[in-house]
Amino acid sequence: MVDKYTVIREMRQYAEKNNVPIMLDEGIEFLTTFILKNHIKNILEIGTAIGYSAIMMAFVDPNVKITTIERDEVRYLEALKNVKKLGLEDRITLIYNDAFNVKLDEKFDLIFIDAAKAQNIKFFEFFEYNLVSGGAVITDNLKFHGMVDKEEYEIKSKNLRALVRKIKDYIVYLKENKKYDTEFFEVGDGISVSVKK
Ligand code: SAH
Ligand code: MG
Repeated sequence: MVDKYTVIREMRQYAEKNNVPIMLDEGIEFLTTFILKNHIKNILEIGTAIGYSAIMMAFVDPNVKITTIERDEVRYLEALKNVKKLGLEDRITLIYNDAFNVKLDEKFDLIFIDAAKAQNIKFFEFFEYNLVSGGAVITDNLKFHGMVDKEEYEIKSKNLRALVRKIKDYIVYLKENKKYDTEFFEVGDGISVSVKK
């Protein structure tokens, strides 16, 4: 029997070594507490990476099920390996594809968006059909390592400036979206929770 803490530690080490941007402790704590408090059972995650956040969410409660999508093959295979090691195959469904090619019929009570940061509005609109009313969309990295709080001239790279602008657009989009009540949290790298009315 593998020790779950060893596997978690190895996942973190792998992420660190290979520059995989997994959610750090504060964010994971926030996410898992949210799942617990709101009795979330069925989760859709956009952006699996190596399966770290999906696995941490699965550990909250044995009734939690997660469907998670990843387009990078190396990361998907690593996630598959980690999920199997922990015997979570029956609760974590891994989909290897670009999220925009994945049309699901199923409804979820939580959608966690943690993929390409410039595409947040598109992910939101593409998957909101899959959210039950009263369900929540949680989005990670709204501060983008502090970049979103900086003045534009302070950001030297053009690509990064464009990305930060997109994240700001997403924040405005959430604030103005009357179908949802959105709250923003200064936790980890910045998290929003949008509850569908
Ligand atoms: N949620 C993970 C980290 C995800 S990192 C964790 O905290 O453990 C973001 C991932 O999203 C990357 O691995 C990237 O390949 C993936 N991604 C980005 N855009 C995507 C898309 N359109 N479809 C599927 N995966 C995508
Ligand atoms: Mg993230």
